[in-house]
Amino acid sequence: RMNVYNISTGSQALNEIIGGGIESGSITEAFGEFRCGKTQLSHTLCVTAQLPHEMGGGNGRVAFIDTENTFRPERIIEICARFDLNAEDVLDNIVVARAYTSEHQCELLDHVAARMAADRFALLIVDSATALFRVDFTGRGELACRQQKLNQFMSSLTKIAEQFNVAVWITNQVMSTPDAMAFAADKKPIGGHVMAHASTTRLALRKGRGEQRICKIFDSPMFAEAEATFAIGVGGICD
Ligand code: ATP
Ligand code: MG
Repeated sequence: RMNVYNISTGSQALNEIIGGGIESGSITEAFGEFRCGKTQLSHTLCVTAQLPHEMGGGNGRVAFIDTENTFRPERIIEICARFDLNAEDVLDNIVVARAYTSEHQCELLDHVAARMAADRFALLIVDSATALFRVDFTGRGELACRQQKLNQFMSSLTKIAEQFNVAVWITNQVMSTPDAMAFAADKKPIGGHVMAHASTTRLALRKGRGEQRICKIFDSPMFAEAEATFAIGVGGICD
């Protein structure tokens, strides 16, 4: 494929196990329990995506679909200080769209695509990709319908990734069955085969000591089942 680039996660160790950073033209999914760093990684990528290619960036704007109201401009400002970037410019280059329902989340992709056709974007973030689907399709009988809608959403993401050569970064939760609670290693991402099929690279995140976090490559056809330890700091994701 032409002109594939990688966007730094902010952690050298994490970049190394995924080939230098998250890749343009495909979907990278991060899943894990609460506070494992999914949203902090999303914020860091909002900034690194805007760096020039030679500095581990994507040299483009960022679209952020926020489904849990967790986007924080204050965090972007703190991360910009670390990379010596003008925070006002960086914030101007992030298009944030709040999604209120799963249907709304799907509709937003049309607006995102229109913006990408007009301007150079490097990254599309959906934090979280699955949360609203869980809320909107709760009944047992609704599972098939949920998976069908989720599949449509993920197909649209794949199309956007390829058409505009942007990196797509999505976050996902894990199921919290009693069994999964007992064995942290058994925690499975939401969305079953639909998510497994659509995401090119899947990252399982978990908490380590203190601010340390551990990332493991999950079922990858390209990368070894390596692990990397990173940290969450004031300046975003670091080693
Ligand atoms: P959820 O599933 O609830 O959305 P998440 O995986 O998105 O969780 P994050 O919000 O990315 O989790 O991570 C939260 C953690 O990030 C906090 O517990 C804290 O350890 C760390 N953190 C947040 N802000 C800062 C900061 N300014 N400086 C250092 N660490 C921070
Ligand atoms: Mg979060």
